[in-house]
Amino acid sequence: MAAGERDIVAEHKTNPLHIMPTTHLFTAPRIATLRSLRVLAGVAALFFTAARAEDAVAKAPDKLVVLTFDDSVASQATIVAPLLKKFGFGATFFITEGFDFATNKKQYMTWEQIKALHDAGFEIGNHTRKHTAVNGQKPEDLAADVEYIEQQCAAHGIPRPVSFCYPAYATSPAAVEVLRGRGYRFARAGGQQAFDPAKDEPLLMPQAFDSKPGAKFEHFGAAVGMAREGKIAVLTFHGVPDEQHPWVNTDPAVFEKYLAHLKEQGCTVIAARDMLKYLPGAK
Ligand SMILES: [Zn+2]
Repeated sequence: MAAGERDIVAEHKTNPLHIMPTTHLFTAPRIATLRSLRVLAGVAALFFTAARAEDAVAKAPDKLVVLTFDDSVASQATIVAPLLKKFGFGATFFITEGFDFATNKKQYMTWEQIKALHDAGFEIGNHTRKHTAVNGQKPEDLAADVEYIEQQCAAHGIPRPVSFCYPAYATSPAAVEVLRGRGYRFARAGGQQAFDPAKDEPLLMPQAFDSKPGAKFEHFGAAVGMAREGKIAVLTFHGVPDEQHPWVNTDPAVFEKYLAHLKEQGCTVIAARDMLKYLPGAK
């Protein structure tokens, strides 16, 4: 029994006629205070329950790496996917029909090859129909370009994508809302930092490394080293090799060195969609 309640009982025992005791003026405010304290305790309990629920979201382990491949380059099917299989790594392939995808099947994958990547266990993500930078687009035009790739996926037996990649890394607040409205969970932008799923907006997810001919091995190692304390290193590649866009080319021998480094470091290498369990509020 709380002190205030004891006072009331005592008061009733000694004052059966309920004559207002002289102490009443002091007791009533004390009861009110006790009630307030109970309300506060209830609020605190709710707060701690919420905090525990947040703790229940899995924290990303150290050395967690996401591999992403942009632009539907044919070498991703012929060279990258077999190497990833050899190493047992997951990855996301961001598909666009931009550039001369329709006519240049030496440079760009066919939808049959893209379906084969899905069948092999890789994630197929959306990189828009025409590879137009979203910050110059009307929301409805972006939505149409995004929907086109979703329809192509459906037509080829590939699940509706949940991951997106911004063409040319350009972002906009309106684009984030279009993607959120269409059910996307991750959208990779550019940058040079690790992704913190507990703090960063997953629809503006930064990359930690952008593989280009000028990249040094130390850059790669440093980016992978950022995958710690709950942060995830999301790594970007284009063609391996990329003959049409040499400024984003990755030499196959260098790529194999990168993969060997991930293996030596004991990294867990996954697709973007595999990060869902690290998002606060994710089911
Ligand atoms: Zn691209």
